[in-house]
Formats: sequence, structure tokens, C-alpha cells
Amino acid sequence: MAASVPTRTIGRLSLYRRLLGNLIADGVEHVYSHQLATMGGVTAAQVRRDMMSVGYSGSPKRGYEVTALAGSIGNFLDASHSEPVALVGVGNLGRAIMAYFAGRRPRLTITAAFDSDPYKLNRVILGCRCHALSEAGAVIGQLGIMTAIVTVPASAAQDVADQLVRAGIRGILNFAPIRLRVRPGVYVEDIDMTMSLEKVAYFARQNAETRSIPEAAVI
Ligand code: NAD
Repeated sequence: MAASVPTRTIGRLSLYRRLLGNLIADGVEHVYSHQLATMGGVTAAQVRRDMMSVGYSGSPKRGYEVTALAGSIGNFLDASHSEPVALVGVGNLGRAIMAYFAGRRPRLTITAAFDSDPYKLNRVILGCRCHALSEAGAVIGQLGIMTAIVTVPASAAQDVADQLVRAGIRGILNFAPIRLRVRPGVYVEDIDMTMSLEKVAYFARQNAETRSIPEAAVI
């Protein structure tokens, strides 16, 4: 079902779930679409359209029931069982990601790690056994893993991605600063922190310059 839903809708649903989690923590029971829209930086019409894709409708008087809506989004986004994830590149970033996920998201669990460093192989690191990539086919097949996180240097990332796809991986979260080439049917999401930081720094500068213009000079 999720395959026919646009990527951006999936991203927004994930965002709404996070916002709803914050509301639950604050003891909020109901939220209107326009309130969720303001929190998410989208329009209320967009929120209502997105909620239709998860089959949830609120009441015009009370809005959405926060816990039920978070549950409906969870049923839509998550697999019915805990989903195993592989991570390749148990370095600084890889370890940080493994430590973050350990025990935090029971529906997505990093269950296999891979690295080329002989000192890391066959060791259990942050609760996860570290294998050589030559074992990827067997390990990934045995654990039924479809999703992988790539945190290797850029120079190794394409080769790693090729091996992962051959081993059965169908979705890659790529932190290496290169554009991976994969065959159709494999979904890749790139996270480039440097690009994002450059963007934030650019707008921070722009905003600082705008603020420094005396108000009288702004027409
Ligand atoms: P790192 O050198 O600490 O870790 C890289 C790991 O990948 C090492 O454990 C290394 O043994 C392993 N590796 C190298 N080649 C491999 C191969 N062919 N197969 C399997 N494992 C291999 O590097 P890092 O700082 O963790 O960064 C990893 C990637 O994430 C880089 O592409 C980097 O540009 C990107 N990145 C890092 C950060 C950060 O904050 N550290 C931020 C954004 C992006």
C-alpha cells in the first residue's frame, strides 16, 4: 500500500508522528489540523489530505485524537513486526547511530553490522555482531534484512552499495557524501550533513544581515 504514496507524504507522516509524540508527552489529547499544520510548517489542507492516506479522520468539533492518530500513522508506516536493519561502516558516525538506535526504536533494530577493519570483525559492538561484507549475502538473507545504513568513506560507498544490493538490500540510508547509483527497485535516501549545515549557515548569515539593517531603512 505504501508503495503508491509519494515519498514526501511518507516524510510528512513521519514528522507528524514525531509531533504527535511530543503532544502525548505534554498530555495533549486532541489537536486540530491547523495546529498540526503550524507545528509541521505545512498547510491545514495538506495535513487533512495526508491523514486521508492513512485512513484517519478527525471530528470537526474536537480535531484529531492524538494517541489514536499516532497509532494509525504507526500502523501505516511501520512493519507489523520488528524490522531488522544492517549498518556498514562501524566508525565514528556508524557507532553513534548504533548507540542512538539501541533499544530506542523496537520496530527498527540494527541487527547486523559490517566493516572491513579486521580489528572489528567478529566482535559484538554496541550489541551487534560485526561481519565482513563478504558474509553480507548469508547474514542479510538469514536475518531477512531489506534496509541498510551506509556510513563508510565516500571512496568505498558505491562498492558497498553494490554488495548490499546483491545481498538483497532494497533500501539504503546513505551518509557518505556521494550520489549512489542503484538499479530501479532500490530506494536511496541521502543525508548530507555538510550540505545541510552550509545551508543553515547561509540563512543564518542572511538573517543576521537583514536584522542589521536599521528599521528606518526598510521600505
Ligand atoms: P570513520 O572513518 O570513523 O568510519 C568509517 C568506517 O567505515 C570505518 O570503521 C572503516 O573501517 C569502515 N570502512 C571503510 N571502508 C569500508 C568498506 N569498503 N567496507 C566496510 N567498511 C568500510 O568515518 P566517519 O566519520 O564515521 O564517517 C563515515 C561516513 O559518514 C563518511 O562518508 C563521512 O563523510 C560521513 N559523515 C560523517 C559525519 C560525522 O559526523 N562523522 C557526518 C556526516 C557524514
